[in-house]
Amino acid sequence: MKFKDLRIIPPILKALEDKGYDEPTSIQAQAIPHILEGRDVLGCAQTGTGKTAAFAIPIIQHIHEAPYANEPWAKIRSLIVTPTRELAIQIGENIDEYAKNTNVSHTVIFGGVKQGAQVAQLKKGVHILVATPGRLLDLIDQGHISLKAIDLFVLDEADRMLDMGFINDIKKLLKILPKKRQSLFFSATMPDNILQLSKEILDNPQKVEVTPVSSTAETIQQYIYYTNKSSKKSLLIHILEKEGMDQVLLFSRTKHGADRIVRDLKKKHIKAAAIHGDKAQNQRQRVLSDFKDNKLRVLVATDIAARGIDIDKLKYVINFDIPDTPETYIHRIGRSGRAGEEGTAISLCEPEENADVKAIEKLANKNITVISDHPFPQTDKPMTAQEKKEFNKEKQRRKQEFFANRKKNRGGAGRR
Ligand code: AMP
Repeated sequence: MKFKDLRIIPPILKALEDKGYDEPTSIQAQAIPHILEGRDVLGCAQTGTGKTAAFAIPIIQHIHEAPYANEPWAKIRSLIVTPTRELAIQIGENIDEYAKNTNVSHTVIFGGVKQGAQVAQLKKGVHILVATPGRLLDLIDQGHISLKAIDLFVLDEADRMLDMGFINDIKKLLKILPKKRQSLFFSATMPDNILQLSKEILDNPQKVEVTPVSSTAETIQQYIYYTNKSSKKSLLIHILEKEGMDQVLLFSRTKHGADRIVRDLKKKHIKAAAIHGDKAQNQRQRVLSDFKDNKLRVLVATDIAARGIDIDKLKYVINFDIPDTPETYIHRIGRSGRAGEEGTAISLCEPEENADVKAIEKLANKNITVISDHPFPQTDKPMTAQEKKEFNKEKQRRKQEFFANRKKNRGGAGRR
């Protein structure tokens, strides 16, 4: 199948050709015709499947062909809401490329930065607005955005949106959006609460689906190293040195953990940087572009920050820790082996995480290949339930002691 078989107009076809896209991905082939027909769509697809283009291309085409396309003053005709700044920026970059031969305009707004430049962009008038929920509602409240002319609404990464606590923002938004509109709803997973939400948004939707979350991409080789908690850093460095990997996306469960890993790698002269919620927006963008430009070998990310990062042809993903939920594992490793490329996912497992690996294997319905020939094998035993209880109690006690001491040292003045 070719893009032109999907009735895509020449200016967009040319842009796709320039991008080097030979043929539509499955989600694109399935979704684009329905969207062009004006149908609502319920899309079950994760990042890496080409879903951004699946909604961006028909939106650009729809606006380009509309009678208002060349009016001097552009109104917002399409709103794309997505959970993270990185994702918003990437959707914006994609639209930039696909719409380059049209007069379709767009802008991107997100929180964590001053609003001035974003408001100035909006004042010029745009056809497509890509937004994160908080900043969107903020600028609507301030009267900088009107949604009255919207005829196409996209809710992207709905499951992550709910995980991040945006449900009330979405409900508020639904009250403001025009009732007569086309809506597209994308989510990597479809649990009951997501389906319920989709019913509030969509009207008689066409369902399109690729790689359900329980199936890991066939092109990703998965390996696991069992080790002790205290050996993980040495093992990581051993793997990076031995396997000669070029660029690696490495996942850490916590922000502090991510910073620690970066410090340890730098000590070994491995170029690394972290991307997580405590980093300023411009810092994150710099790190991301350094990684894309090959100036960094290891990008250490937390799950939320990594969501939606778009890096072409990423070969290696390392899980420095095993995620608590198997779905998160599937999302993480889905960052390698994109768009038909081969990928490798390596996980480091300490005794306390052995059970999490079992849960992942159960969900994926396959065993992960164990690498046992390495210098840091797992010799410790997982804690018994009783030991775990005591360990957590002790951790809690130390935490309370730490905060009590801090308060005492600050003369009871609390946080400064
Ligand atoms: P997404 O799922 O939207 O994050 O896209 C994943 C990656 O696939 C991005 O790097 C896109 O640029 C790329 N991509 C999207 N559509 C195609 C296509 N038809 N052919 C090749 N690459 C594509």
